[in-house]
Amino acid sequence: MEAHRLSSTKPVQALKPTKKISLEEDTGKASDALPLPLYLTNALFFTLFFSVVYFLLSRWREKIRTSTPLHVVTFSEIIAILSFFASFIYLLGFFGIDFVQSLVFQPSPDVWIAEEEDDEVLLAKEDARKVPCGQALDCSLPPLPPAAPIVTVQKVFDEKPVTVLTEEDEEIIKSVVAGTTPSYSLELKLGDCKRAAAIRREALQRLTGKSLSGLPLDGFDYESILGQCCEMPVGYVQIPVGIAGPLLVNGREYSVPMATTEGCLVASTNRGCKAIHLSGGATSVLLKDGMTRAPCVRFGNAKRAADLKLYLEDPDNFETLSVVFNRSSRFGRLQGIKCAIAGKNLYIRFTCSTGDAMGMNMVSKGVQNVLDFLQTDFPDMDVIGISGNYCSDKKPAAVNWIEGRGKSVVCEATIKGDVVRKVLKTSVQSLVELNMLKNLTGSAMAGALGGFNAHASNIVAAIYIATGQDPAQNVESSHCITMMEAVNDGKDLHVSVTMPSIEVGTVGGGTQLASQSACLNLLGVKGASKETPGANSRTLATIVASAVLAGELSLMSAISAGQLVRSHMKYNRSSKDVSKAT
Ligand code: ADP
Repeated sequence: MEAHRLSSTKPVQALKPTKKISLEEDTGKASDALPLPLYLTNALFFTLFFSVVYFLLSRWREKIRTSTPLHVVTFSEIIAILSFFASFIYLLGFFGIDFVQSLVFQPSPDVWIAEEEDDEVLLAKEDARKVPCGQALDCSLPPLPPAAPIVTVQKVFDEKPVTVLTEEDEEIIKSVVAGTTPSYSLELKLGDCKRAAAIRREALQRLTGKSLSGLPLDGFDYESILGQCCEMPVGYVQIPVGIAGPLLVNGREYSVPMATTEGCLVASTNRGCKAIHLSGGATSVLLKDGMTRAPCVRFGNAKRAADLKLYLEDPDNFETLSVVFNRSSRFGRLQGIKCAIAGKNLYIRFTCSTGDAMGMNMVSKGVQNVLDFLQTDFPDMDVIGISGNYCSDKKPAAVNWIEGRGKSVVCEATIKGDVVRKVLKTSVQSLVELNMLKNLTGSAMAGALGGFNAHASNIVAAIYIATGQDPAQNVESSHCITMMEAVNDGKDLHVSVTMPSIEVGTVGGGTQLASQSACLNLLGVKGASKETPGANSRTLATIVASAVLAGELSLMSAISAGQLVRSHMKYNRSSKDVSKAT
């Protein structure tokens, strides 16, 4: 199956013949001169060579003795001369030419091309072995004929463990396909998450008739996602991680991991980081830190809903409510309650600090505590849902833009005029003008909600995926207003991004997975902060905002210099045919 994963999708016939193969086909070898076994051909030419040399030398001696001119040759001497050259060329071709070439020529890059192309042919062979969907796992493949080049491919596979299904697994696959064993119960039934994923995957392929050969199965710790990150896994998607930086912010340098498949994005952010660094760095300030959850409760009339609103917003009741809220977590601490009424329905927006966790679970537990507590004094309160969308999670909403959600951050830098010209290849004036007409006026014309920026969501999404954040929260986390102003008598550029709802954590969710945790470690914010709970997630939020600042600077410069299309053509439209990529 791993062979299938790597194999090209193009038909075998479509492959162009490789250089190595064409060399073998087109170039005759010296030993092919006669249709005889190699040793007989060699013996024949050796004998011929030495015989004619002996014959010609004796003829030469004879001519000197009889004073016959050398250029007067007989028919037998002509034959001997021709035989001499023929056998000499043969012997040189057989024994000498490689030796001479090795002295005269350096290895040509074609050697590598030939080797690379060889791999392509091998992969095409693998392609040819494709079996109908549903039989796509390794165990169902016929064995490869032993051929020297296959070893190269096998070597690559040998480095990874390859899942092989047993006869017992085959029985379970059949029962999943038949519907007698629910696919979701495999982990519990087998007690082996990797095996469960392999069996589910094979059953899925059989049921759908679609191959999953491009989706890797091996090389992932399925235990680590159980009950935490993903249910019913059948493999994992690979996303490349690029590094932008060093990003100098608050006097510290960071290498920022970005998981993306958008060409140009990392390169562009990297250029922004360079401009910031050369200008002395950015300053990023955390303004607020509080996760929200807003249940919807309903009463028989609007008066009762208003009673609860007044009760919840009365400062005298805050302490009681916070004791109730805080009891489910060491880190979740109630900060405030804000209510909105719609007739007899009340939306209660709780805000709490959440330590280093992004905090959705934490705040939800606290909210549940308070709802249970309120039932005593407000028995007529009907809880419609723990989330009434006034939170507001994973949807664009003015409440987040105005009030903030998660971490609210402002980040600024003053970019030197020289850097704007030399690194960003534009001018302070055109950047300021573009920002005003695009990010401010253009977005206003479009009726934007938190979208007063060039591409904050690009950077936010890439960092979120790399560091195990919830990528769906990119919606409100990317709310951002980018401001640009000429300063120092118009010589330099002051640039800032204000982002009121960056929702990040360094514990919980996907942050604990190996790859994501490595990226957090690179930033020095892995896990819970030992010194100050919450310090790691707050630092991460300031890094996100600074990286957005870098991204805004670079993209805005590209647009103002008219480079956008050109650079995307270079980084986004590779001429390489990726369907041939192995
Ligand atoms: P979320 O609330 O973001 O959904 P989880 O509930 O998955 O996150 O993870 C938070 C868990 O991590 C809680 O059980 C909490 O007690 C624990 N935890 C450990 N250290 C910290 C910390 N420094 N800050 C926040 N939570 C922490």
